Amino acid sequence: MISIKSKREIDLLRIAGHIVYETHQYLKPYIKAGITTKELDTLAESFIRSKGATPSFKGYEGFPATLCISINEEVVHGFPSERKLENGDIISIDIGACYQGYHGDSAWTYAVGEVSEENQYLLEHTEKALYEGIKQVQPGAHIGDIGAAIEAYAEKHHLGVVKELVGHGVGCDVHEEPDVPNYGRKGTGPKLREGMVIAIEPMLTLGSPDIYIDDNDWTIITEDGSMAAHFEHTVVVTKDGVEILTGE
Ligand code: MG
Ligand code: MG
Repeated sequence: MISIKSKREIDLLRIAGHIVYETHQYLKPYIKAGITTKELDTLAESFIRSKGATPSFKGYEGFPATLCISINEEVVHGFPSERKLENGDIISIDIGACYQGYHGDSAWTYAVGEVSEENQYLLEHTEKALYEGIKQVQPGAHIGDIGAAIEAYAEKHHLGVVKELVGHGVGCDVHEEPDVPNYGRKGTGPKLREGMVIAIEPMLTLGSPDIYIDDNDWTIITEDGSMAAHFEHTVVVTKDGVEILTGE
């Protein structure tokens, strides 16, 4: 069942989403060569708790940390560690926060110092692919419209679409129905209705989109070692379109 959120629930989801947005802004100045990903995780956890929220991912099916931090060829679900960021890395930070029982979920991929032109291209067009998906959201549209738009944009820019992982509904659970794939056909899948809340999250690669799972049973890595980026917003279907809950 895809739940329709009440006005009260959307108000709480908006607060949770805003805390996630603020956590991204808070972390940005720290994303520099030399900091460890564990240090970023500690900063994020304290910040989220200072806002009266809790980290959504910590303890979720055993995930050990507040942030998913995925560097370079890691696509998603990287563990924070003693690894230090280096100039030229691209680092995806996925943040979930829970406020009074309601979640927000947003990922962004950042450049550490100066990155290669190719990596810059990947970041620019994965972010744009996210907005191509968001543009499709309105009452009466289909989930497949979102994936079709993202896939078409990625193909046009010669980027690979990771298909094994998908976006999702968001509410009292950080992952709810429906699945929101980053590929598909227009006019297929569940119909969007006012009050549905979903996370749209393209994961695109410079090379092949084939992936494997690390020995830690969580981290997803590109098989050919090519760079991957991940951008995600939680959005609500409104009466006449869409509102981004994890944006400015
Ligand atoms: Mg996320
Ligand atoms: Mg998500």
